[in-house]
Amino acid sequence: MIRVNENFLKLRAGYLFPEIGRRVRVFKQEHPQARVISMGIGDVTQPLAPAVIEAMHRAVDEMGRRETFRGYDDTGVGYEFLRKAIVDNDFGQRGVSIDLDEVFVSDGTKPDTGNMQEIFGVENVVAVADPVYPVYVDTNVMAGRTGEASDEGQYAGIVYMPATAENGFVPSPPDKPVDMVYLCFPNNPTGSVATKDELAKWVAYAREHKAVIFFDAAYEAYISDPAIPHSIYEIEGAKEVAVEFRSCSKTAGFTGVRCAYSIVPKQLKAYTRDGRAVDVGPIWKRRHCTKFNGVSYITQVGAAAIYSPQGKKQVRQTIDGYMVNAARICEGLTKLGYKVYGGVNAPYIWLQTPKGVGSWQFFDRLLNEVHVVCTPGAGFGPAGEGYVRLTAFGLPENVKEALDRLARL
Ligand code: PLP
Repeated sequence: MIRVNENFLKLRAGYLFPEIGRRVRVFKQEHPQARVISMGIGDVTQPLAPAVIEAMHRAVDEMGRRETFRGYDDTGVGYEFLRKAIVDNDFGQRGVSIDLDEVFVSDGTKPDTGNMQEIFGVENVVAVADPVYPVYVDTNVMAGRTGEASDEGQYAGIVYMPATAENGFVPSPPDKPVDMVYLCFPNNPTGSVATKDELAKWVAYAREHKAVIFFDAAYEAYISDPAIPHSIYEIEGAKEVAVEFRSCSKTAGFTGVRCAYSIVPKQLKAYTRDGRAVDVGPIWKRRHCTKFNGVSYITQVGAAAIYSPQGKKQVRQTIDGYMVNAARICEGLTKLGYKVYGGVNAPYIWLQTPKGVGSWQFFDRLLNEVHVVCTPGAGFGPAGEGYVRLTAFGLPENVKEALDRLARL
Protein backbone atom coordinates (compact mmCIF):
# COMPACT_ATOMS: atom_id res chain seq x y z
CA MET A 1 0.00 0.00 0.00
CA ILE A 2 1.43 3.33 -1.05
CA ARG A 3 1.79 5.61 1.96
CA VAL A 4 1.69 9.36 1.71
CA ASN A 5 4.40 11.54 3.27
CA GLU A 6 2.27 12.72 6.18
CA ASN A 7 4.44 15.76 6.76
CA PHE A 8 2.69 17.28 3.75
CA LEU A 9 -0.65 16.85 5.52
CA LYS A 10 0.55 19.16 8.29
CA LEU A 11 0.88 22.05 5.85
CA ARG A 12 -1.64 24.81 6.22
CA ALA A 13 -3.25 25.45 2.84
CA GLY A 14 -1.59 28.35 1.01
CA TYR A 15 -4.05 30.80 2.46
CA LEU A 16 -2.81 34.33 1.97
CA PHE A 17 -2.66 34.95 -1.78
CA PRO A 18 -5.60 32.66 -2.72
CA GLU A 19 -7.73 34.48 -0.13
CA ILE A 20 -6.65 37.88 -1.45
CA GLY A 21 -7.48 36.67 -4.97
CA ARG A 22 -10.88 35.42 -3.84
CA ARG A 23 -11.82 38.70 -2.15
CA VAL A 24 -10.65 40.74 -5.16
CA ARG A 25 -12.66 38.50 -7.54
CA VAL A 26 -15.82 38.87 -5.46
CA PHE A 27 -15.33 42.65 -5.33
CA LYS A 28 -14.82 42.87 -9.12
CA GLN A 29 -17.93 40.78 -9.80
CA GLU A 30 -19.96 43.13 -7.63
CA HIS A 31 -18.29 46.28 -9.01
CA PRO A 32 -17.42 45.58 -12.65
CA GLN A 33 -16.72 49.28 -13.35
CA ALA A 34 -14.18 49.75 -10.54
CA ARG A 35 -10.51 50.03 -11.58
CA VAL A 36 -8.66 48.05 -8.95
CA ILE A 37 -4.99 48.98 -8.35
CA SER A 38 -2.75 46.32 -6.87
CA MET A 39 -0.10 47.44 -4.42
CA GLY A 40 0.14 43.93 -3.08
CA ILE A 41 2.05 42.19 -5.83
CA GLY A 42 5.54 40.93 -5.12
CA ASP A 43 6.35 40.66 -8.82
CA VAL A 44 8.19 43.19 -10.92
CA THR A 45 6.47 45.12 -13.72
CA GLN A 46 9.34 46.60 -15.77
CA PRO A 47 10.79 44.66 -18.74
CA LEU A 48 14.27 43.13 -18.93
CA ALA A 49 17.19 45.48 -19.53
CA PRO A 50 18.13 45.97 -23.23
CA ALA A 51 21.65 44.64 -22.50
CA VAL A 52 20.12 41.39 -21.21
CA ILE A 53 17.84 41.06 -24.23
CA GLU A 54 20.74 41.65 -26.67
CA ALA A 55 22.90 39.07 -24.91
CA MET A 56 20.09 36.51 -24.88
CA HIS A 57 19.44 37.06 -28.59
CA ARG A 58 23.12 36.40 -29.28
CA ALA A 59 22.97 33.25 -27.16
CA VAL A 60 19.91 32.01 -29.06
CA ASP A 61 21.83 32.48 -32.33
CA GLU A 62 24.75 30.50 -30.89
CA MET A 63 22.38 27.69 -29.99
CA GLY A 64 21.22 27.68 -33.63
CA ARG A 65 24.64 26.85 -35.09
CA ARG A 66 26.28 23.46 -34.71
CA GLU A 67 29.71 24.99 -33.98
CA THR A 68 28.43 27.05 -31.05
CA PHE A 69 25.52 24.91 -29.88
CA ARG A 70 25.58 23.92 -26.17
CA GLY A 71 23.80 21.03 -24.49
CA TYR A 72 24.02 20.26 -20.79
CA ASP A 73 26.06 22.67 -18.68
CA ASP A 74 28.47 19.96 -17.60
CA THR A 75 29.91 22.01 -14.74
CA GLY A 76 26.52 21.44 -13.09
CA VAL A 77 27.02 24.60 -11.05
CA GLY A 78 26.92 27.36 -13.68
CA TYR A 79 29.21 28.53 -16.49
CA GLU A 80 32.48 30.05 -15.34
CA PHE A 81 31.79 33.33 -17.18
CA LEU A 82 28.73 33.91 -14.96
CA ARG A 83 30.33 32.73 -11.71
CA LYS A 84 33.33 34.98 -12.38
CA ALA A 85 31.07 37.99 -13.00
CA ILE A 86 29.23 37.22 -9.72
CA VAL A 87 32.41 36.81 -7.68
CA ASP A 88 34.05 39.96 -9.08
CA ASN A 89 31.04 42.25 -8.98
CA ASP A 90 28.75 41.13 -6.17
CA PHE A 91 31.54 40.33 -3.72
CA GLY A 92 35.00 41.52 -4.90
CA GLN A 93 33.76 45.08 -5.24
CA ARG A 94 32.60 45.00 -1.61
CA GLY A 95 35.92 43.62 -0.36
CA VAL A 96 34.62 40.07 0.07
CA SER A 97 36.63 37.26 -1.46
CA ILE A 98 34.55 34.34 -2.74
CA ASP A 99 36.05 31.48 -4.78
CA LEU A 100 34.48 30.40 -8.06
CA ASP A 101 33.75 26.93 -6.66
CA GLU A 102 31.77 28.42 -3.78
CA VAL A 103 29.13 29.72 -6.25
CA PHE A 104 26.20 27.48 -7.28
CA VAL A 105 24.01 28.92 -10.05
CA SER A 106 20.35 27.88 -9.89
CA ASP A 107 16.87 28.67 -11.15
CA GLY A 108 15.79 30.70 -8.13
CA THR A 109 16.17 31.66 -4.51
CA LYS A 110 12.80 30.09 -3.76
CA PRO A 111 14.12 26.65 -4.78
CA ASP A 112 17.52 27.31 -3.17
CA THR A 113 16.12 28.38 0.21
CA GLY A 114 13.65 25.51 -0.03
CA ASN A 115 16.18 22.85 -0.98
CA MET A 116 19.17 23.80 1.16
CA GLN A 117 17.58 22.42 4.35
CA GLU A 118 17.60 18.95 2.82
CA ILE A 119 21.33 18.41 3.37
CA PHE A 120 21.00 19.05 7.11
CA GLY A 121 19.68 16.59 9.73
CA VAL A 122 15.96 16.34 10.32
CA GLU A 123 16.53 16.68 14.09
CA ASN A 124 17.86 20.26 13.75
CA VAL A 125 15.87 23.02 15.44
CA VAL A 126 14.83 25.79 13.03
CA ALA A 127 14.39 29.48 13.87
CA VAL A 128 12.56 31.98 11.68
CA ALA A 129 11.32 35.53 12.06
CA ASP A 130 7.63 36.26 12.54
CA PRO A 131 6.42 37.60 10.07
CA VAL A 132 8.30 35.43 7.57
CA TYR A 133 8.63 34.52 3.87
CA PRO A 134 6.62 31.26 4.06
CA VAL A 135 8.98 29.08 1.97
CA TYR A 136 11.46 28.72 4.86
CA VAL A 137 8.77 27.29 7.12
CA ASP A 138 6.83 25.15 4.66
CA THR A 139 9.90 23.33 3.33
CA ASN A 140 10.91 22.41 6.88
CA VAL A 141 7.39 21.14 7.54
CA MET A 142 7.67 18.97 4.40
CA ALA A 143 11.01 17.66 5.64
CA GLY A 144 9.51 16.58 8.97
CA ARG A 145 11.29 19.09 11.20
CA THR A 146 8.05 20.27 12.84
CA GLY A 147 4.92 19.14 14.60
CA GLU A 148 1.40 20.28 13.78
CA ALA A 149 0.31 23.88 13.15
CA SER A 150 -1.45 25.89 15.87
CA ASP A 151 -4.67 27.80 15.15
CA GLU A 152 -2.51 30.82 14.39
CA GLY A 153 -0.59 28.79 11.80
CA GLN A 154 2.66 28.38 13.76
CA TYR A 155 4.21 24.92 13.76
CA ALA A 156 5.30 23.08 16.89
CA GLY A 157 9.06 22.73 17.09
CA ILE A 158 9.92 25.92 15.16
CA VAL A 159 11.34 28.83 17.11
CA TYR A 160 9.54 31.99 15.96
CA MET A 161 11.30 35.29 16.60
CA PRO A 162 8.90 38.25 16.55
CA ALA A 163 10.04 41.12 14.32
CA THR A 164 8.30 44.15 15.78
CA ALA A 165 8.51 47.94 15.72
CA GLU A 166 10.27 47.67 19.12
CA ASN A 167 13.20 45.68 17.71
CA GLY A 168 13.21 47.58 14.41
CA PHE A 169 11.90 44.38 12.73
CA VAL A 170 15.33 42.78 13.29
CA PRO A 171 15.05 39.96 15.84
CA SER A 172 17.98 39.26 18.15
CA PRO A 173 19.32 35.72 18.53
CA PRO A 174 17.14 33.58 20.82
CA ASP A 175 18.21 32.84 24.39
CA LYS A 176 18.31 29.11 23.63
CA PRO A 177 20.33 27.15 21.09
CA VAL A 178 18.90 26.54 17.62
CA ASP A 179 20.64 24.90 14.67
CA MET A 180 19.23 26.45 11.47
CA VAL A 181 18.44 30.16 11.32
CA TYR A 182 16.74 31.86 8.37
CA LEU A 183 17.50 35.57 8.02
CA CYS A 184 16.21 37.75 5.19
CA PHE A 185 17.60 41.28 4.72
CA PRO A 186 16.39 43.51 3.15
CA ASN A 187 13.30 41.86 4.54
CA ASN A 188 10.18 40.62 2.87
CA PRO A 189 7.60 41.61 4.14
CA THR A 190 8.72 44.35 6.59
CA GLY A 191 11.28 46.16 4.39
CA SER A 192 13.73 46.25 7.32
CA VAL A 193 17.51 45.92 6.97
CA ALA A 194 20.11 44.69 9.46
CA THR A 195 23.18 46.72 10.42
CA LYS A 196 26.67 45.23 10.61
CA ASP A 197 26.41 45.10 14.41
CA GLU A 198 23.08 43.28 14.27
CA LEU A 199 24.41 40.71 11.80
CA ALA A 200 27.60 40.35 13.84
CA LYS A 201 25.46 39.25 16.82
CA TRP A 202 23.94 36.54 14.66
CA VAL A 203 27.32 35.38 13.37
CA ALA A 204 28.64 35.21 16.96
CA TYR A 205 25.55 33.25 18.02
CA ALA A 206 25.93 30.77 15.15
CA ARG A 207 29.61 30.29 15.92
CA GLU A 208 28.88 29.74 19.61
CA HIS A 209 26.14 27.17 18.93
CA LYS A 210 27.67 25.63 15.79
CA ALA A 211 24.49 26.66 13.96
CA VAL A 212 24.07 27.59 10.29
CA ILE A 213 22.56 30.86 9.03
CA PHE A 214 20.61 30.82 5.76
CA PHE A 215 20.96 34.42 4.63
CA ASP A 216 18.42 35.41 1.96
CA ALA A 217 19.73 38.54 0.22
CA ALA A 218 17.26 38.46 -2.70
CA TYR A 219 16.63 42.22 -2.25
CA GLU A 220 20.26 43.24 -1.73
CA ALA A 221 20.22 45.50 -4.83
CA TYR A 222 17.65 47.78 -3.15
CA ILE A 223 20.01 48.86 -0.35
CA SER A 224 20.81 52.57 -0.65
CA ASP A 225 22.37 53.26 2.77
CA PRO A 226 26.15 52.80 2.38
CA ALA A 227 26.48 51.61 5.99
CA ILE A 228 24.19 48.59 5.47
CA PRO A 229 25.98 45.33 4.55
CA HIS A 230 24.89 43.72 1.27
CA SER A 231 26.36 40.32 2.11
CA ILE A 232 26.60 38.47 5.40
CA TYR A 233 30.21 37.75 4.45
CA GLU A 234 30.97 41.41 5.17
CA ILE A 235 30.86 40.23 8.80
CA GLU A 236 34.05 38.61 10.00
CA GLY A 237 33.75 34.89 10.65
CA ALA A 238 30.48 34.53 8.67
CA LYS A 239 31.97 32.16 6.10
CA GLU A 240 32.24 29.52 8.82
CA VAL A 241 28.53 29.64 9.62
CA ALA A 242 26.50 31.06 6.72
CA VAL A 243 25.09 30.22 3.31
CA GLU A 244 23.96 33.20 1.23
CA PHE A 245 21.24 33.33 -1.43
CA ARG A 246 21.05 35.90 -4.23
CA SER A 247 18.61 36.18 -7.10
CA CYS A 248 18.36 38.02 -10.43
CA SER A 249 14.56 38.09 -9.95
CA LYS A 250 14.17 41.44 -8.22
CA THR A 251 17.65 42.71 -9.14
CA ALA A 252 17.08 42.50 -12.88
CA GLY A 253 13.45 41.52 -13.51
CA PHE A 254 14.22 37.80 -13.94
CA THR A 255 11.10 36.55 -12.13
CA GLY A 256 9.92 34.95 -15.38
CA VAL A 257 13.39 34.08 -16.72
CA ARG A 258 14.77 32.33 -13.59
CA CYS A 259 18.37 32.71 -12.46
CA ALA A 260 19.84 32.87 -8.96
CA TYR A 261 22.76 31.53 -6.99
CA SER A 262 23.84 30.26 -3.58
CA ILE A 263 27.20 30.78 -1.92
CA VAL A 264 28.38 27.83 0.17
CA PRO A 265 31.81 28.77 1.59
CA LYS A 266 34.55 26.17 1.94
CA GLN A 267 34.87 27.01 5.66
CA LEU A 268 31.26 25.99 6.38
CA LYS A 269 31.00 22.77 8.40
CA ALA A 270 28.18 20.64 9.76
CA TYR A 271 28.61 17.85 12.26
CA THR A 272 27.90 14.12 12.45
CA ARG A 273 26.12 12.63 15.46
CA ASP A 274 29.51 11.79 16.98
CA GLY A 275 30.74 15.36 16.54
CA ARG A 276 32.92 14.97 13.42
CA ALA A 277 33.07 18.14 11.28
CA VAL A 278 32.07 17.66 7.63
CA ASP A 279 32.43 20.15 4.74
CA VAL A 280 28.99 21.36 3.61
CA GLY A 281 30.04 22.61 0.13
CA PRO A 282 30.71 19.18 -1.43
CA ILE A 283 27.42 17.83 -0.03
CA TRP A 284 25.48 20.72 -1.54
CA LYS A 285 27.34 20.21 -4.85
CA ARG A 286 26.42 16.51 -4.80
CA ARG A 287 22.78 17.31 -4.11
CA HIS A 288 22.65 20.17 -6.66
CA CYS A 289 24.21 18.12 -9.48
CA THR A 290 22.04 15.07 -8.73
CA LYS A 291 18.66 16.79 -8.59
CA PHE A 292 19.17 19.84 -10.82
CA ASN A 293 20.43 19.95 -14.38
CA GLY A 294 21.55 23.53 -14.69
CA VAL A 295 20.19 26.88 -15.81
CA SER A 296 19.89 27.29 -19.58
CA TYR A 297 22.88 28.74 -21.43
CA ILE A 298 20.67 31.52 -22.81
CA THR A 299 19.59 32.51 -19.32
CA GLN A 300 23.13 32.44 -17.93
CA VAL A 301 24.35 34.67 -20.80
CA GLY A 302 21.47 37.04 -20.00
CA ALA A 303 22.38 37.02 -16.29
CA ALA A 304 26.05 37.75 -17.05
CA ALA A 305 24.95 40.79 -19.09
CA ILE A 306 23.59 42.36 -15.88
CA TYR A 307 27.24 42.84 -14.90
CA SER A 308 28.29 44.57 -18.15
CA PRO A 309 28.70 48.38 -17.92
CA GLN A 310 25.50 48.93 -19.92
CA GLY A 311 23.63 46.21 -18.02
CA LYS A 312 24.62 47.67 -14.65
CA LYS A 313 23.40 51.12 -15.68
CA GLN A 314 20.09 49.85 -17.05
CA VAL A 315 19.34 47.58 -14.11
CA ARG A 316 20.13 50.43 -11.71
CA GLN A 317 17.73 52.74 -13.56
CA THR A 318 14.89 50.25 -13.12
CA ILE A 319 15.61 49.74 -9.41
CA ASP A 320 15.86 53.51 -8.94
CA GLY A 321 12.43 53.83 -10.59
CA TYR A 322 10.91 51.34 -8.14
CA MET A 323 12.57 53.17 -5.25
CA VAL A 324 11.07 56.48 -6.43
CA ASN A 325 7.71 54.70 -6.08
CA ALA A 326 8.71 53.52 -2.60
CA ALA A 327 9.69 57.04 -1.53
CA ARG A 328 6.41 58.45 -2.88
CA ILE A 329 4.39 55.82 -1.04
CA CYS A 330 6.22 56.44 2.24
CA GLU A 331 5.95 60.22 1.93
CA GLY A 332 2.30 60.16 0.84
CA LEU A 333 1.22 57.81 3.62
CA THR A 334 3.19 59.67 6.28
CA LYS A 335 1.48 62.92 5.21
CA LEU A 336 -1.87 61.17 5.60
CA GLY A 337 -0.91 60.34 9.19
CA TYR A 338 0.01 56.68 8.76
CA LYS A 339 3.04 55.12 10.41
CA VAL A 340 5.16 53.36 7.78
CA TYR A 341 8.35 51.30 7.95
CA GLY A 342 10.70 50.01 5.25
CA GLY A 343 10.64 51.46 1.73
CA VAL A 344 14.13 52.99 2.03
CA ASN A 345 16.49 50.04 1.48
CA ALA A 346 13.79 47.64 0.27
CA PRO A 347 10.91 47.64 -2.22
CA TYR A 348 8.43 46.81 0.58
CA ILE A 349 6.52 49.26 2.76
CA TRP A 350 5.15 47.97 6.05
CA LEU A 351 2.16 50.11 6.95
CA GLN A 352 0.77 50.10 10.48
CA THR A 353 -3.01 49.90 10.31
CA PRO A 354 -5.06 52.45 12.30
CA LYS A 355 -5.59 51.59 15.98
CA GLY A 356 -8.11 48.81 16.47
CA VAL A 357 -8.24 47.92 12.74
CA GLY A 358 -6.88 44.44 11.95
CA SER A 359 -4.83 43.58 8.84
CA TRP A 360 -7.71 41.90 7.01
CA GLN A 361 -10.19 44.55 8.09
CA PHE A 362 -7.89 47.25 6.67
CA PHE A 363 -7.41 45.17 3.50
CA ASP A 364 -11.20 45.06 3.04
CA ARG A 365 -11.50 48.78 3.66
CA LEU A 366 -8.85 49.63 1.06
CA LEU A 367 -10.43 47.27 -1.46
CA ASN A 368 -14.05 48.31 -0.94
CA GLU A 369 -13.63 52.03 -0.38
CA VAL A 370 -10.70 53.00 -2.67
CA HIS A 371 -10.23 49.85 -4.79
CA VAL A 372 -6.60 49.37 -3.77
CA VAL A 373 -5.18 45.91 -3.01
CA CYS A 374 -2.55 45.41 -0.30
CA THR A 375 -1.26 42.29 1.46
CA PRO A 376 -2.47 41.75 5.04
CA GLY A 377 0.52 41.44 7.38
CA ALA A 378 -1.17 38.73 9.45
CA GLY A 379 -0.79 36.44 6.43
CA PHE A 380 2.98 36.34 7.07
CA GLY A 381 2.60 35.41 10.76
CA PRO A 382 0.84 36.56 13.94
CA ALA A 383 3.35 39.38 14.55
CA GLY A 384 2.26 40.82 11.18
CA GLU A 385 -1.21 41.52 12.60
CA GLY A 386 -1.81 45.26 12.63
CA TYR A 387 0.21 45.82 9.45
CA VAL A 388 -0.24 45.54 5.70
CA ARG A 389 2.50 45.21 3.09
CA LEU A 390 2.62 47.51 0.09
CA THR A 391 5.10 47.02 -2.74
CA ALA A 392 6.95 49.52 -4.88
CA PHE A 393 6.85 47.34 -8.00
CA GLY A 394 3.78 49.01 -9.52
CA LEU A 395 3.66 51.48 -12.39
CA PRO A 396 4.34 55.10 -11.26
CA GLU A 397 0.96 56.31 -12.56
CA ASN A 398 -0.81 53.64 -10.49
CA VAL A 399 1.17 54.59 -7.40
CA LYS A 400 0.12 58.22 -7.81
CA GLU A 401 -3.52 57.27 -8.39
CA ALA A 402 -3.51 54.89 -5.40
CA LEU A 403 -2.13 57.62 -3.13
CA ASP A 404 -4.77 60.10 -4.35
CA ARG A 405 -7.45 57.55 -3.56
CA LEU A 406 -5.97 56.77 -0.13
CA ALA A 407 -6.21 60.48 0.67
CA ARG A 408 -9.97 60.14 0.24
CA LEU A 409 -10.26 57.19 2.62
N1 PLP B 1 13.30 35.19 -1.21
C1 PLP B 1 12.44 36.15 -0.83
C2 PLP B 1 12.60 36.76 0.50
C3 PLP B 1 11.42 36.56 -1.69
O1 PLP B 1 10.56 37.51 -1.31
C4 PLP B 1 11.29 35.95 -2.96
C5 PLP B 1 10.23 36.34 -3.90
O2 PLP B 1 9.25 36.94 -3.64
C6 PLP B 1 12.18 34.96 -3.30
C7 PLP B 1 13.17 34.61 -2.41
C8 PLP B 1 12.06 34.25 -4.61
O3 PLP B 1 13.15 34.45 -5.40
P1 PLP B 1 13.30 33.72 -6.81
O4 PLP B 1 12.41 34.43 -7.78
O5 PLP B 1 14.74 33.84 -7.13
O6 PLP B 1 12.89 32.28 -6.64
